[in-house]
Amino acid sequence: MLRTLAVSLLLAAPAHADGAQDFVTANVISTLYHEFGHALIDLTDASVLGREEDAADILSVILLDEFWEEDAAESITALTALSFELAAQEAEEPAYWDVHGLDMQRYYNQVCLFYGADPDTRAALAEEFALPAERAETCVEEYDLAAASWAAVLDPLTASEPTKSIGFDGETSSDIGALIASEVTDLNQAFTLPKPVTVALTSCGEENAFYDPETATITICTEYVEFLERQAIANDL
Ligand SMILES: [Zn+2]
Repeated sequence: MLRTLAVSLLLAAPAHADGAQDFVTANVISTLYHEFGHALIDLTDASVLGREEDAADILSVILLDEFWEEDAAESITALTALSFELAAQEAEEPAYWDVHGLDMQRYYNQVCLFYGADPDTRAALAEEFALPAERAETCVEEYDLAAASWAAVLDPLTASEPTKSIGFDGETSSDIGALIASEVTDLNQAFTLPKPVTVALTSCGEENAFYDPETATITICTEYVEFLERQAIANDL
């Protein structure tokens, strides 16, 4: 079920440069996987070590590594790391109070875990993203530990045949709507959740994406997608 990025990009009309489109696509995918992590932690009562935000970031890397062919997985990882770097540059000072790790910590965690999943293939990426050698030494161990702890959650959910425990609520006529719908199809092929989860693409009055345990809904705000588009264009991607 490995996918190439081109598959999803075929769905996307070239409203602007490919680089900007790739950036938006990559970050919507990473964010969807991150929020899916929150949903899994909620629905399975999984006990995760450390911060839930870190566990959600880790799941995002695990799914990227599992679902996508190498070129696409590297591209999505690189563009996700870039968004953390841009966020760090845009912030006036590091948000030490935030429940998420600091943006540059998320950047290095993303690169380290992805590298650690397949260090022989991904040494060039680690170098390109300036992963320090002393951190790189521990990345294989970090990935193995992360993958093992998520495997305890994911293995019982592995679908023997595709089901529809994850629904999509949104327009598939937009590029991003079609992308998310196809991601939902892939997630349904891989996992059967103990309770139904909805993934909604909708306007919410803020540039955000979140999981609401009350309704078991992952919401990707259209304002967040527009924010990514503006960020890509502002940085000449
Ligand atoms: Zn989160």
